[in-house]
Amino acid sequence: MSDAISGPGASGGPVVEGPHDPEHDPRASYALEPEHVARLTERILTTTGRTTVVHSPLDGAPLANIPQSSADDVAEAFRRARIAQAAWARVSIDERARILHRLHDIVLDRQAEIIDLIQLESGKARKHAFDEPLHIALTARYYARTAHKHLDTRSAPGVVPVLTKVEINRLPKGVVGIISPWNYPFTMALCDGLPALLAGNAVVTKPDAQTMLSALLGAQLLEEAGFPRDLWQVVAGPGRELGTPIIDRADYICFTGSTATGKIIARQAAERLIGCSLELGGKNPILVLRDADIERAAEGAVRASFSNAGQLCVSTERMFVADQVYDRFVERFVARTKAMSLGATLGWDADMGTLISADQLETVTAHVEDAVAKGARVLAGGKARPDLAPYFFEPTILEGVTPEMTCFGHETFGPVISIYRFHDEADAIARANDGEYGLNGSVYTRDTVRGRAIARQIKCGTVNVNEAFGATFASIDAPMGGMRESGMGRRQGSDGIHRYTEVQSVGTQRLIRFGPMFGMSDEGYAKFMTASLRIMDKLGRA
Ligand code: NAD
Repeated sequence: MSDAISGPGASGGPVVEGPHDPEHDPRASYALEPEHVARLTERILTTTGRTTVVHSPLDGAPLANIPQSSADDVAEAFRRARIAQAAWARVSIDERARILHRLHDIVLDRQAEIIDLIQLESGKARKHAFDEPLHIALTARYYARTAHKHLDTRSAPGVVPVLTKVEINRLPKGVVGIISPWNYPFTMALCDGLPALLAGNAVVTKPDAQTMLSALLGAQLLEEAGFPRDLWQVVAGPGRELGTPIIDRADYICFTGSTATGKIIARQAAERLIGCSLELGGKNPILVLRDADIERAAEGAVRASFSNAGQLCVSTERMFVADQVYDRFVERFVARTKAMSLGATLGWDADMGTLISADQLETVTAHVEDAVAKGARVLAGGKARPDLAPYFFEPTILEGVTPEMTCFGHETFGPVISIYRFHDEADAIARANDGEYGLNGSVYTRDTVRGRAIARQIKCGTVNVNEAFGATFASIDAPMGGMRESGMGRRQGSDGIHRYTEVQSVGTQRLIRFGPMFGMSDEGYAKFMTASLRIMDKLGRA
């Protein structure tokens, strides 16, 4: 726990103990110091006079009042962002990269404070919260180091060798709108914006209402690193109210969230003919082949299924296990799951934290109850744990899930995995490819060549061999995103930054022109060009 933050059992900082009686309720109780909240929320553009209360899922107690923005506030955010962007576009790529490097250092130095706030808002285990500053540090470092590779002007072969010179520029789009979800509140609010800034854009963000504070801390750290304050605008409020005013003004939209909302965003972006990238839901499969290292697969399956209590877009909800190893694997997976330490605390001791909200608990409970009522067997977990935190649900393994059950094909977005037996690999691949989604998959096998061959047959934007999701997600040069209803476009890598640029080709013609020259007729010019093309083609093929 950071010096800057304290909860029960710690000392000093912006989090203080709330009025909680441990004799009657074993849960912790947390509150943030008002000055700390004020320093964060002062960044929100707001003229409404309205606030909403966010609650900490750690104990269900109110955490902070968040000022709300109106459509007019969104307009003002874009006005300020456009002014800031015009100046920012003139800053050299080297200087922009230097600032990103500083952000990398700040995020690593201040990780304890960042993690505390993420945990307070989301209730996730500390080790899962750590993934967020880690991902931002990796992203900042990657783009800072590769800035020139992605953004430098490059030359292309001109139509007339030597005499036609062509340059291809990457110009910033302008102001990018970023709408992000609550599940990884720090990294989802920031990670897509870093390449946008590096490419010379400004950003207007609308983080999810439940997790504004983590996103605001991210905005504060961007300014501390050296990004001009107005370059990164934050508005707060419900997506259905602020989404349209953002899309109406943005030059590009980056959305992360559910497939249902993604379709609304895509329609609105299409109406304005602006680009958008959509990082959406999944029903991710994991395949355990007959030659898998069982212990390694069981360890990976726990992370794949229960990281952030399953509230992770790339987490696994369907597991296909080869007949030959099914019993041994299931025994190890169940044992590891039952041995997990559960807790809603700021300490490092919990293997899994709580769900974020009553809505999430309702969905997860409904999926499990529906499956059990229709005949599924619970191999581990299966119930809510209000003794740990108000929205806590146990890591749950289900067997015997059938297509009539909701959790067969619908994303649960919680700690619930359905496990299926397979006899032949082609059938397992076909079942993994069932449904509308295509975000992330995993294959466990000792034969990594075969693992990669199977990966190519899985219709997912990322596939990890002998890993849950980290091998792709943490390799920032690798594009990340979904096929089919899991999304459009990619974050990370060159795709992740080029989406925020307009490609411009500049051609310079010397000596000859395109059209009849030296007194030629149009017909003579056509003959001359035809002969030239034939000669160039022959030379090219020689
Ligand atoms: P959601 O779609 O309800 O909300 C996401 C964001 O969109 C929030 O900021 C919300 O306020 C906003 N929003 C809601 N309605 C809107 C509208 N009509 N117009 C504009 N904005 C609107 O999603 P959620 O339930 O908060 O997030 C969970 C989902 O996100 C899951 O399906 C998960 O798989 C997905 N997700 C995907 C990725 C990925 O990278 N593919 C990452 C994280 C989460």
